[in-house]
Amino acid sequence: MQNQPYSIISVLGPIGILSAAALSVALAIKSNKTKELRAKVDNLQKTLEEMDEQAKLLVSTDMELNNLQEELDKKITGLYSLQKLSRTISTTLEEDQIFTRVEPALLEDLGFEKSMAFLWNEKDKKFVPRLDIGYAEDETGPIASFVDLNKNAFLDIIKTSRTLSSISLSQDSVTKEKICNAFKVNSFIVAPILPKEGNKGFFFVGTENAETPLTEGDEELITILANQIGQALENARLFETTWRAHQELENKVKERTRELTLALEEVKNISKRKTDFVSSVSHELRTPLTSVKGYASILLASKLWVLPDEVRARLEKINKHTDELVQFVNDLLDISRIESGKVTMKQEAQDLTRITAEVSDLLGVLLKEKKIGLSCNIADDAKSVFVDYNQIKRVFINIINNALKFTPPGGKITIKSYKAGEQAQIDISDTGCGIPEEAQSKIFEEFYRVDNPINQEVKGTGLGLTLVKNIIEAHKGKIWVKSKVGTGSTFSFTLPQP
Ligand code: ADP
Repeated sequence: MQNQPYSIISVLGPIGILSAAALSVALAIKSNKTKELRAKVDNLQKTLEEMDEQAKLLVSTDMELNNLQEELDKKITGLYSLQKLSRTISTTLEEDQIFTRVEPALLEDLGFEKSMAFLWNEKDKKFVPRLDIGYAEDETGPIASFVDLNKNAFLDIIKTSRTLSSISLSQDSVTKEKICNAFKVNSFIVAPILPKEGNKGFFFVGTENAETPLTEGDEELITILANQIGQALENARLFETTWRAHQELENKVKERTRELTLALEEVKNISKRKTDFVSSVSHELRTPLTSVKGYASILLASKLWVLPDEVRARLEKINKHTDELVQFVNDLLDISRIESGKVTMKQEAQDLTRITAEVSDLLGVLLKEKKIGLSCNIADDAKSVFVDYNQIKRVFINIINNALKFTPPGGKITIKSYKAGEQAQIDISDTGCGIPEEAQSKIFEEFYRVDNPINQEVKGTGLGLTLVKNIIEAHKGKIWVKSKVGTGSTFSFTLPQP
């Protein structure tokens, strides 16, 4: 076999073609993959950029949140300090103390180390400093002069009820610069103090610190604090007014009490002089009266002569009138003696039924004459009384005698006794003419008699009930009357029991 040269192609022919084709396919695939990879890388790049953007956003949001948190913390601290300040201010009712209670530490919590307060004095037309915090002694004088020099600007704050601050005034404002210079601060707030009445003024706070800027929240807090000061001043003023009125009233009461004590002393003196006078006059009258009565009785009784009827009748009149006069003088004397405490009641346990039986026996003839019935109803537990027998008998006689006098024939008198608390109460009622209401409180006064037809006819002294009242009161009892004109009267009194 002849070695025929074979070209490499002819040798490699089909394999080479196949390999080349495979290579070109591989290359094509690779190029596609590269493209795909590039696209993926691009995508990744984009995503990375987006993530970077978001990270940046996150950081800035976080910073913002931090700032907000800081501001919130500041506000909470501010509110807390404000609450503390308000509480301390409002618990005092003295104007001076309101300002001394503004504590520097609490103001510092609010971010201010300097403060001053001024109140307007209408009389002197001047702002008067009431508070200074954070200033040396020699610094407050020039500030006060500055305020005085610019008083119209500060009065304006009061008039318009407006809070001013270094943020509400524009940057180039002269007023702002002037205030900052005068009060030696970088930022400030001036809020009006506005009590309803009384001296109004303004409250200044400021800080030299330029780093923490003022916010509207700070303005609000200081306005609220100034309002609280105004309210506290108003409360102090009201308290002062009320306290002064109370003091004046107390002084008046003291003065009146002193006057009344003096008047009472005077009345006691007069009363004593009157009692002494009545007592001595009665004594002086009694002696000649006894002798007049004695002589009249002798003349009437003498068997040495026969008296002409006319003389006898006159002598009998002298006798009768002298008796009445002696009775009158005796009553007067008794009243003054009991009033001056010269008569001591001989109190013993006594039976009321015995007293009433004796009195009805004594007045039996008169009762019969006028056809007036007397009934007695004494409860068992109100039977025994602790009294001076003779004096209480006089009380019964006087009251029943009056009832007899003022009750028309055919009427009724009733005595009732019952227990009233610790004492016995006695009611003596009649069906007589009654006592007008306006006279009821007067009938126990000396010489008082109601102006009525019976009194015009029947003699009386107006001393009987005064004596009765004195005797009852000497027994530590009470006496009163209930009466209706035309129907009758009830005299009630209380007596102690053993
Ligand atoms: P007198 O009987 O001497 O006038 P009293 O002091 O005993 O003085 O009484 C004062 C007055 O009170 C009497 O004048 C009478 O007007 C009035 N009075 C007292 N008791 C009665 C009564 N039972 N009914 C009506 N009036 C009476």
